[in-house]
Amino acid sequence: DDSTSLFANLIEAPEPARVVPVLVPMPAPVAYSYRVPDGMAVEPGSIVQIPLGSRKVVGVVWDDQGGNPVDEKKLRPLEKVFDCPPLSREMRMFLDWVAAYTLSPPGLVARMALRAPAAFDPEPMIEGLRFSGQTPEKLTASRKKVLDLSQDGLSWTRSGLAHAAGVSLSVVDGLSKQGVFETVFLPPPPLVAAPDPDYIASRLAGEQQEAADTIIETAIDDRFSVTLIDGVTGSGKTEVYFEAIAETLRRGKQVLILLPEIALTADFLERFQDRFGSKPAEWHSELATKTREKVWRQTATGDVRVVAGARSALFLPFEDLGLIIVDEEHDPAYKQEDRVFYNARDMAVVRARIAGFPVILVSATPSVESQVNSQQGRYSRIHLPTRFADAALPDLHLVDMRRHAPERGGFLSPILLRAVGKTLEKKEQSLLFLNRRGYAPLTLCRVCGHRFQCPQCSSWLVEHRFRGQIQCHQCGYAERTPEACPECGTFDHLVACGPGVERIAEEVERHFPDARTLVLSSDIGGVKRLRLEFEAVAKGEADIVIGTQLVAKGHNFPLMTLVGIIDADIGLANGDPRAAERTYQLLSQVTGRAGRTGRKSHGLLQTFQPQHPVMQALVLGDAEAFYDREIGERERGQLPPFGRLASIIVSADNRIDAEGHARQLRQAAPVGGSISVLGPAEAPLALIRGRYRFRLLVHGPRQSDLQSFLKAMLERGPKERRSLHVQVDIDPQSF
Ligand code: ADP
Ligand code: ZN
Repeated sequence: DDSTSLFANLIEAPEPARVVPVLVPMPAPVAYSYRVPDGMAVEPGSIVQIPLGSRKVVGVVWDDQGGNPVDEKKLRPLEKVFDCPPLSREMRMFLDWVAAYTLSPPGLVARMALRAPAAFDPEPMIEGLRFSGQTPEKLTASRKKVLDLSQDGLSWTRSGLAHAAGVSLSVVDGLSKQGVFETVFLPPPPLVAAPDPDYIASRLAGEQQEAADTIIETAIDDRFSVTLIDGVTGSGKTEVYFEAIAETLRRGKQVLILLPEIALTADFLERFQDRFGSKPAEWHSELATKTREKVWRQTATGDVRVVAGARSALFLPFEDLGLIIVDEEHDPAYKQEDRVFYNARDMAVVRARIAGFPVILVSATPSVESQVNSQQGRYSRIHLPTRFADAALPDLHLVDMRRHAPERGGFLSPILLRAVGKTLEKKEQSLLFLNRRGYAPLTLCRVCGHRFQCPQCSSWLVEHRFRGQIQCHQCGYAERTPEACPECGTFDHLVACGPGVERIAEEVERHFPDARTLVLSSDIGGVKRLRLEFEAVAKGEADIVIGTQLVAKGHNFPLMTLVGIIDADIGLANGDPRAAERTYQLLSQVTGRAGRTGRKSHGLLQTFQPQHPVMQALVLGDAEAFYDREIGERERGQLPPFGRLASIIVSADNRIDAEGHARQLRQAAPVGGSISVLGPAEAPLALIRGRYRFRLLVHGPRQSDLQSFLKAMLERGPKERRSLHVQVDIDPQSF
């Protein structure tokens, strides 16, 4: 009867086909099938080496999505399974989710989780020594010291033992020769010591303590939740989330802290160490390969408990992640715009939701998206309205540049110059902020009007006078600053238009020849050099710092009491609906560098639009009015987060192809639904590296399924040809 045949089926079930899908780290749309050789144990998530064409590549055994027909005879075998923890089910679900959401090939997303080429094999054991029971023939004083330490039978490294005993290596080697030690193999030491949640007693002030208690009670749990810590600069947001981290560590879970400029914020690591007794592991693109591999592996094994990293750290294979902090959650650096276009803040929330743990978003100027989410009750909000220890926020004033014009050829108003002078007299520091590298953003010929443009991009060449070059900030093209105009041949009639930080430095040096002036921009060198410069500023080794947005983030400059914004309007002109939000965030952050240690501080914002809502919100300190207005506008236009947006950039090596392809793509869009397609129009950067770019914007209501719409459009649209490239960007930064 039925039940026996069912039973029979169960016991006689054939061995499952030993064929597994493997994601290869490439832009392939699906996983490839491989045969598992007899005796090889693999499971979904196993990291394997596979033959691909004539190469060997690393891939991940994936979950069977069914229905991938395979020709048994063509199957090639897996070559090797690496001896490392497989990617967890949650991690695989997360990677699948990111691929589906961003419309990226899953292999490319998986590749982000495998960015540590040699980390998949275990780290080699290191050679060590252990007391063998044999005593030496002659017992000198130094030999005795070594024996005293090692006689309990514990293992040592050769140099560790010599060091601990305070003797030279030759003493240890001499004992080894006499058979006093036997060789043992030890696991490599952990990269960083485990942070101790109770290393110091919590030292939070009243309002901070309440905030930390609330978070610990309501959020630190094996349950998904999002908390937004919104507090003014210097209110102690970091101190508060440190307590959330401590609690997570006490619960035995790992923690990820995302920071937008981790490579530059050495003082963050030190603060962490002061609180937890050891530093977190760092993760960013500047790490040496060896270190990167260790961090990857030890995150997977659980030896590393806390990682502080850039956005790509979100793809590390944590063994048991229990909390993600996204500091400066509004920061545009969280958006990756290369291959897989994603926002690490948003994807952090997804990772937490899939695995069931809390996320904490932190900002003095939250994104409009997070504000709306907290207003609508999806996120809890913790507010810290005052600076720690009664330090006041800087007093902000607008300088109306229509009335307080700088002297001819200058960019600093007399008011700002006077303020810098006074700050110098008090032996305090000033920061002059201009978000423009180089000397001048545009060079033109006074005789014929020729403007120097990049040959491959639609951007002007920026003069870098320190280097004697004009450079393209899009593609890196550079040439020596010419002496004659290439158009009309006239010598010595080229003029620099507008200021960059180098030009401001020149003006400052003219006015304050005795002050120590320092330009801080990415042009002065790599991360190591920049870290040193930041430390020097913190120690008071410069009087006037002229900086780009590099100086805006996270740094503590105790002596800084004046911030001058050279051109507060700079970001407002580009017509982007997010321009006001970005300007508000950036200027709040920069002015927030001043007065962090309680000295009276000032901010002066040079503007031609003193009535602009951004300027008014800043000087009145009225964040609420600003957000209300901004949120209202987004709602009226059904712009994110009230509606959904994607952009499609079509690029080609000639204009006609790019535009034509974009038009055909638009015609392929499904019609009749609530989603609409705008364009094509020239993309904001119409030409980059010789490629012409056209943009379509896809706009729909909040609940619409943008991804299915886009997929249908791309499938029905014209096939991509060799020189043509189509890039989808879900939730684009600018629109
Ligand atoms: P935020 O992250 O909001 O900008 P921080 O946590 O960096 O604020 O705090 C600002 C400054 O105040 C830091 O130098 C920090 O060390 C100090 N601080 C904040 N809270 C405390 C506290 N409870 N005890 C001692 N120092 C504190
Ligand atoms: Zn260029």
